[in-house]
Amino acid sequence: MNISDYKGVLVFVEQRDNKIQRVSLELLGKARDIADKLNEKVTAVILGNNIKNNLEELIYHGADEVIYVDHQNLDIYITEPYTKALCEVINDKKPEIVLIGATAIGRDLAPRVSARIYTGLTADCTSLDIEEETRNLLMTRPAFGGNIMATIICPEHRPQMSTVRPGVMEIKERDTSRKGDIKEFFIDFTKEDINVEILEVVKETKEKVNIEEAKILVSGGRGIGKPENFALLKELAMLLDGQVSASRAVVDAGWIDKDHQVGQTGKTVRPNLYIACGISGAIQHLAGMEESEFIVAINKDSEAPIFEVADVGIVGDVNKVVPLLIEELKQY
Ligand code: FAD
Repeated sequence: MNISDYKGVLVFVEQRDNKIQRVSLELLGKARDIADKLNEKVTAVILGNNIKNNLEELIYHGADEVIYVDHQNLDIYITEPYTKALCEVINDKKPEIVLIGATAIGRDLAPRVSARIYTGLTADCTSLDIEEETRNLLMTRPAFGGNIMATIICPEHRPQMSTVRPGVMEIKERDTSRKGDIKEFFIDFTKEDINVEILEVVKETKEKVNIEEAKILVSGGRGIGKPENFALLKELAMLLDGQVSASRAVVDAGWIDKDHQVGQTGKTVRPNLYIACGISGAIQHLAGMEESEFIVAINKDSEAPIFEVADVGIVGDVNKVVPLLIEELKQY
């Protein structure tokens, strides 16, 4: 491989129901900064069906060029046709960097693409930088359970590929004076490429949550033990006329929806009462809630950092303490 044949930054733009996902705009902003340092271009690649409208938005947010593949086989995300389409665009463009959002789709797509084009992948990055001299992408991500931040490079292969967590990069201000090219890319799909058929899509019916406006929040962390235990926190929140929120650990584990996440990469809240249940109090969590008026922390570890910001601390098993609180409140 002659790595100097590879130039520019490519961003996979995720769309759902033809709506460009926020993480892709975040990545375009970062790609723009990196490409400017390397004096290269940013290419946005979008796959789907009937997606030709509004593609200039990608240019307004930092791309120099948009490549779209518009095909009925790409209507709904399916691993194989998306992998084939993205690999063909990458093989044609030969970018030195490929960025993909660490979403459900990105986490499925990126490893397959990286394997198929014989390069490495650093998954779930929280920051990216470029070493201008070597053109190495510095891909940083938490490692060993979040205890260290590891910066990983891919010096001998191109492209350098990374998935990036949503919410960690800033979106560039929309600039409608930016100009760029929009090009269609054609793929010949064969029968073998379509090995899965989607029979029905059932949309999740989500209750609307707005934890930023709640006066009382009962917040759950990994210490609650299992997702089913959120039922207890919901009951407590209901009795207090509040809402349920959460730490990132449980959001990442899929125990509760991201709309509930408090912290640096979640929401910043300032309720009158914040009850932290089984939350350690990592700095990134505190960043989103330490301005709360009154903080109650329940944690079995008396040394947990959450107690440093708590007005009242209860050392104990959250799954024993919360039922006692519920029992007490029911008497009023
Ligand atoms: P843990 O750290 O695992 O803590 C669980 C706690 O529960 C422990 O203190 C334990 O003593 C206690 N416990 C266990 N069992 C019981 C029990 N039975 N009863 C009572 N207590 C119990 N985190 C966020 O929350 N929000 C963010 O926005 C956020 N953004 C981040 C951004 C970056 C760039 C990075 C690197 C990390 C971010 N994090 C964020 C993650 C953060 O560093 C922590 O990993 C996370 O907050 C830990 O969640 P937790 O407290 O639920 O879990």
